[in-house]
Amino acid sequence: MSHTILLLPGDGIGPEIVAEAEKLLLAVGEKFGLDFTFTRGLIGGCAIDVTGVPLPDETVALARAADAVLLGAVGGEKWDRGPAHLRPERGLLGIRKALGLYANLRPALLFPELAGASTLKPEVVAGLDIVIIRELTGGIYFGEPRGVETLADGTRIGRNTMVYSEAEIERIGRTGFDIARRRGRRLCSVDKANVLETSQLWRDVMTRLAADYPDVELSHMYVDNAAMQLVRAPKQFDVVVTENLFGDILSDCAAMLTGSIGMLPSASLNETGFGLYEPVHGSAPDIAGQQKANPLATLLSVAMLLRYTLGQASAADAVEQAVASVLRQGLRTADIALPGERVLGTAQMGDAVVAALRGGV
Ligand code: NAD
Repeated sequence: MSHTILLLPGDGIGPEIVAEAEKLLLAVGEKFGLDFTFTRGLIGGCAIDVTGVPLPDETVALARAADAVLLGAVGGEKWDRGPAHLRPERGLLGIRKALGLYANLRPALLFPELAGASTLKPEVVAGLDIVIIRELTGGIYFGEPRGVETLADGTRIGRNTMVYSEAEIERIGRTGFDIARRRGRRLCSVDKANVLETSQLWRDVMTRLAADYPDVELSHMYVDNAAMQLVRAPKQFDVVVTENLFGDILSDCAAMLTGSIGMLPSASLNETGFGLYEPVHGSAPDIAGQQKANPLATLLSVAMLLRYTLGQASAADAVEQAVASVLRQGLRTADIALPGERVLGTAQMGDAVVAALRGGV
């Protein structure tokens, strides 16, 4: 069966890291008998240069025709002076909206070899393997009414509205339970139910859903405590599910537990399991075109694509094991190398992961 993957390299280091992902997918295809067809599209600054807009209609059409999307990164100084609707990042927001990507998954996985890169003590984070699931299309970032108004006496007030429907909570809640089922079967729902009515509804719905997933252990935690626990004892979590604003903050916090931005993958999924996969980092203009970028976040995004959209768990495991294997061999790109360690370029690192995958180590 053939799977169509839309590659959106984007800007900066995007083309370099996506080239490694393509190489890896071809190797996965050979090893696991999967047939991949690649299509290519424009997004971000490179799309502005060619078409005048950061998200051409053709890119959305290509995404709709694909089984999954793999994105590099967008952005760069060259396009930062344009009007807000013509910034590269608008391309990202636009494609998430166009494809209904409501669930953002951010694993924080710390390979033991890199435990020294975290700002926390190695024993607190070594072997960390958690996933934060953030609701991406609702909550206070989208709620109405919103805005800044000037009252009759000249005082200005700002207003945002946190709003969630039961259906929106149920949708992300089920994603949380489903993902927990494929991992350690523990789901922690994070809210602020002691203060917020939205959170009380959130907690009600999560508790109701738990009856459908007797094999998953559900717990609830207030967001302030969750922030504290993430830096105190992060390994207590398996899967965390939370609303948009809380997830925005907690997922960055969890990501930084690992200490290296070049290692962090992400997925944004819609109701059908279709997903857009991308590294968490940006386009790194400071090292673009120099073969200095770490491709591992993108290669780990490929593992997520295999697991969550294509349902190929063994292939996903093999990719993650290949990444672990190159790290065990002491292979490093500049961002994760300690002084004195030999440093590989982007393509060399990609080749090493492909070799480890082929060798099954
Ligand atoms: P950045 O993540 O691009 O870079 C931050 C630092 O991390 C830089 O020093 C960079 O060299 C380094 N870095 C990032 N990825 C790396 C990798 N794979 N290997 C080695 N080093 C890596 O963030 P920034 O500098 O704040 O933003 C640069 C541009 O990227 C901006 O235009 C920003 O808007 C955009 N951006 C895009 C996304 C995205 O596409 N999802 C996310 C964040 C920022």
